[in-house]
Amino acid sequence: MARTLTARPDRMLGHLIDRTSEQRLTGSVAKFTYRTFRLPLQRPDSGSSAHTVACELCGQRVRVRLYSVTHTVRLRRRWLGLCGAGLVVLGLAVFGAFGPDPVLLGTAGLAVLSAFAAAVGFAAAVAGFTAYWLEDGVRMLKPNARPQHNLLQPGRLGSKA
Ligand SMILES: [Zn+2]
Repeated sequence: MARTLTARPDRMLGHLIDRTSEQRLTGSVAKFTYRTFRLPLQRPDSGSSAHTVACELCGQRVRVRLYSVTHTVRLRRRWLGLCGAGLVVLGLAVFGAFGPDPVLLGTAGLAVLSAFAAAVGFAAAVAGFTAYWLEDGVRMLKPNARPQHNLLQPGRLGSKA
């Protein structure tokens, strides 16, 4: 079950104060350190609302959209729907290739199509479940226009209060 939703979102506004890269066995990994601040906002009773929040460190204004608890639950259901559809596609591709009547391995073209469908289904299932898990109904509007700010999950690695 994804995190509990409350009227006050638990996401933090983060101001990027340091960016380093670490060498690991798998390659270079970027590490971001943020100064974080609690969003002084309340979700609307229904639908969504847009707000402007001033960063407590630099004063820059950041636009944030908040979805109501009921709307966020709907968003989570959509992400679960994507996950379910991905699992259905993955299941059909695997069943068609390895089931009792493996029609999808009849020709090389169908085998490639089956492998592609399985990969797309798996990716959709993983992406849908991840989005469901992380969905909390809080969005930064035009995030690329404010590159030194980010909305962070509480306790996220690399953040610093
Ligand atoms: Zn700032």
